Amino acid sequence: MSTYAVTGAASGMGRAVAEKLTAAGHTVIDVDIAEATVQADLSTPVGRREAAAAVLERCGGRLDGAVMAAGLGPAPGRERPRLIAEVNYFGVVELLEAWRPALAAADDAKVVVFSSNSSTTVPMVPGRAVRGLLDGDIDRVLGALRIFGKQAPTFAYAASKIAVSRWVRRTAVTSGWAGAGIRLNAIAPGAVLTPLLEKQLATPAEAKQIKRFPVPIGGFGDPGHLADWVVFMLSDAAAFLCGSVVFVDGGSDAWFRADDWPRGVPARRLRSYLNRMRELRR
Ligand code: NAD
Repeated sequence: MSTYAVTGAASGMGRAVAEKLTAAGHTVIDVDIAEATVQADLSTPVGRREAAAAVLERCGGRLDGAVMAAGLGPAPGRERPRLIAEVNYFGVVELLEAWRPALAAADDAKVVVFSSNSSTTVPMVPGRAVRGLLDGDIDRVLGALRIFGKQAPTFAYAASKIAVSRWVRRTAVTSGWAGAGIRLNAIAPGAVLTPLLEKQLATPAEAKQIKRFPVPIGGFGDPGHLADWVVFMLSDAAAFLCGSVVFVDGGSDAWFRADDWPRGVPARRLRSYLNRMRELRR
């Protein structure tokens, strides 16, 4: 049986994942700001350091996997953009960097990060905010979001999910991760009926926007179904999955972006493509 760290395990999809893993006989080290074995506030650097250390202590230096589900939705509020950036991006990256040696110690560890289809379906997300997150510069992130006023949480949320997906894809293929037998992937759900979405649906203006959003399948996703996808991504059957972002969103991403991806390498990028090929061979 395996040992998994699950953040955001007190509610919604994180909770559903933790319940399924526990029911299958695995040990779950649950992390959350609400009631949890490791209670920590992932919106502060101190909280993230404490959470990382507490998990390492409990797992005895060997983690078979991690599920990063703690997250904040784009609810209104002045402080919200900062909190979203801290929890949704740094609350994933800093913990995983701290846990990497314990994941490597398991030989074939699997990590699933919660992204969102907001990463591809929210228009005009400022690249400066995404780059600020990837560079660890929170002031640059907040500066780039200020022009959006009351709408800033929506763009902060999308930027956090673009940045965390990009971090997953850049990091998954490196020697420290793929080379150490760790499979790092992301899941990108659409609207899933969890307390996070219920809070948004309770606000009439937000509810109107959510219900208007195109979902070819219709309706909302089921947290249990999303948890099944995550459990699959942690299983041996996912041994060849590396750096993927799996969209489970009722078709919204395909509706907006059907022709954007997959896309071949254009002639102007051939040189960097060939350099990249040589790099891995070396
Ligand atoms: P949820 O609100 O039900 O659960 C999120 C959990 O994160 C909660 O238990 C909460 O206490 C925890 N959390 C929030 N702030 C924290 C902090 N500062 N420190 C520690 N823990 C904190 O949400 P959910 O819908 O299950 O979302 C899970 C993940 O999926 C999130 O990353 C979310 O962005 C993402 N997501 C959700 C949806 C959706 O429609 N529900 C869609 C796409 C992506």
